[in-house]
Amino acid sequence: MKTIDRTKPVMVTGATGYVAGWLVKKLLDEGLTVHAAVRNPDKTEKLEHLNKLAAESKGSIRYFKADLLKPGSYAEAMEGCELVFHTASPFTSEIKDPQKELIEPAVQGTRNVLEQANKTASVKRVVLTSSCAAIYTDASEVAQTPKKILTEDIWNTTASLSYQPYSYSKTLAEKEGWKIAETQKQWDLVVVNPSFVMGPALNANVATSESINILKQLGDGTMKMGAPNLGVGVVDVRDLAIAHFNAGFKPEAEGRHIISGHNSSFLEMAQLLHGKFGDRYPLPNKPIAKWLLMLVGPMANKAFSRAFIRNNVNHEWKADNSKSIQKLGVTYRKLEETMTDSFQALIDKGVLPAK
Ligand code: NDP
Repeated sequence: MKTIDRTKPVMVTGATGYVAGWLVKKLLDEGLTVHAAVRNPDKTEKLEHLNKLAAESKGSIRYFKADLLKPGSYAEAMEGCELVFHTASPFTSEIKDPQKELIEPAVQGTRNVLEQANKTASVKRVVLTSSCAAIYTDASEVAQTPKKILTEDIWNTTASLSYQPYSYSKTLAEKEGWKIAETQKQWDLVVVNPSFVMGPALNANVATSESINILKQLGDGTMKMGAPNLGVGVVDVRDLAIAHFNAGFKPEAEGRHIISGHNSSFLEMAQLLHGKFGDRYPLPNKPIAKWLLMLVGPMANKAFSRAFIRNNVNHEWKADNSKSIQKLGVTYRKLEETMTDSFQALIDKGVLPAK
């Protein structure tokens, strides 16, 4: 049981990210001091939203230069922190070399941050942002699980360097996290495993997350022929921030947690946008035929390979989120609210044209 002293600074890796933005907001609103580890503290446009949040809150923020691939680079940011949130990891389908661009930052980065925790006497807990991608690769796997539902007991055994390397990177990184955690008793590891994250991006204009890329494709006409009826779980980025926060501060928190509000599909996500935006944007409203998606999918998104489409389109996605509700006290907002707020944020930040 680890109680965290709220007067001590809290470190967040990847503070510039989409997911981390709302976590940093929550920490600042609670009056905490955030040690934000970022790759490039001089890239001020990536920090603008964080500076604004800090100015509007009771808390404060300090930036530290750190890179997942540079051993020791998290030392200064971690100094004096009892709680570390490790969210940094690349989430993109725009890659040429999966080993260098996904696996190495994910795995070496986790090793780098957790080995630094071993060297930093103040650290009591590390919260690792893993993913449901460390549990499964394809929605077709759901029907083959013992209870026909994804649970925290399941590990991804199907992703590889050549098939869905992002999922592979998250699986290897989480495994590395548990391996290091088990070699020591100074700090405990609590893991959150979010499904696909949606919700308003505080940094929509500079976001790199694949979440924003896919949302943009729903609204810019890329998917106007139809949306894939592709089974996914969805969680609101604001609910995920509470999950992270509680995973950090609830003394009894332990193990992995599926953080997912809705068993859904890209088609449903698109359809929920129609009420508010359907008359103004070329939003898909019907499923795209699987054969057609196999032709155009790989062009729209590199992760949509033919094998991926075969294994995910028209397959139902289902996960058990009960541990997150019972143990972390997470509540999940309605998917329609998540989707409309997400889309509105893209318009407000000029990513999609105002119409
Ligand atoms: P973003 O791309 O918005 O955030 C990724 C963060 O990682 C950025 O802050 C980025 O920094 C940082 N980063 C990447 N490479 C390095 C590096 N070499 N050194 C230091 N920092 C680095 O993605 P998300 O916010 O979506 O993802 C955040 C976390 O959530 C990831 O661990 C992701 O796997 C996980 N996740 C996301 C889901 C989603 O649907 N979005 C679902 C499940 C899990 P910089 O700004 O400098 O590029």
